[in-house]
Amino acid sequence: MDKRIGFIGAGQMAEALARGFIAKGVCRAEHVFATDPVQDRKEVFRSFSTNPVDGNIEVVQSADVIFIAVKPQYVSVVLREVRPYLEDRHTIVSIAAGITLQSLKARDAAGDGVRLVRVMPNTPCLVGETAAAMCLGGKADDGDAELVRRLFDSVGKIYRVDEKLLSAVTGLSGSGPAYVFLMIEALADGGVRSGLPRDIANQLAAQTVLGSAKMVLQTGKHCGALKDMTCSPAGTTIAGIHELERAGTRAAFMNAVLAATQRADELA
Ligand code: NAD
Repeated sequence: MDKRIGFIGAGQMAEALARGFIAKGVCRAEHVFATDPVQDRKEVFRSFSTNPVDGNIEVVQSADVIFIAVKPQYVSVVLREVRPYLEDRHTIVSIAAGITLQSLKARDAAGDGVRLVRVMPNTPCLVGETAAAMCLGGKADDGDAELVRRLFDSVGKIYRVDEKLLSAVTGLSGSGPAYVFLMIEALADGGVRSGLPRDIANQLAAQTVLGSAKMVLQTGKHCGALKDMTCSPAGTTIAGIHELERAGTRAAFMNAVLAATQRADELA
């Protein structure tokens, strides 16, 4: 793509996104601009041949797609600073958790005239496997959505939803990695309790989650059908499933998503 990409805030997420875009060839390193008050972060960006610049306004002047990758409490301040320099060519992408389009408008940070896309990514973005969702605000249109989709396709998957569903996205995929880490840790504990060495138990648990997720995505089969395929009559797996059902595991996962969604709504 011939767009120049800018990052206001050159932290963990900005680095993961920039490295992903470049590695997958959706943009060239020399077309990436980033700024951060912390000099070390700019040096990190210099180390993979992108352009560290001196301030937020310079990022806006140098790039077409501007990622707002600062912590949520700084988003309004940063947008108010750069707003006078925004032109029609700019697409603004906020990845800050919980900062709604409405709140940005209310704080006079980004109004109807700005092409604004709000994205909720998750931590596996750091390894190129994010599950993200986006919604459009201001005067962002299908062209902006397509641009953001192309970029995020290089670091995982992205889906378009109405903004009112972004809290549910936060509750499922935003918080979801932590649920899965907990699950992997618990599976490994079970392996250790059954006699496996810890390192092998960790690897087996993580690889089992990775492989199972790939089967869901690649076969397109219903999870129930895949589960049934692994359960032979009076076998080992159905004995394990019986314990999970007895413990209310399904309801626990559903309740976790619901609780995190409600919390995201409270914070928005
Ligand atoms: P981070 O702390 O690694 O990066 C933020 C960077 O912004 C820091 O390097 C900081 O020095 C810089 N910064 C602070 N004030 C600034 C300013 N005024 N102008 C320019 N830069 C400034 O944080 P992160 O984990 O990369 O998160 C960035 C955003 O991504 C957050 O809003 C967060 O909600 C969102 N997010 C993160 C994750 C995640 O997994 N880390 C997931 C979803 C959403």
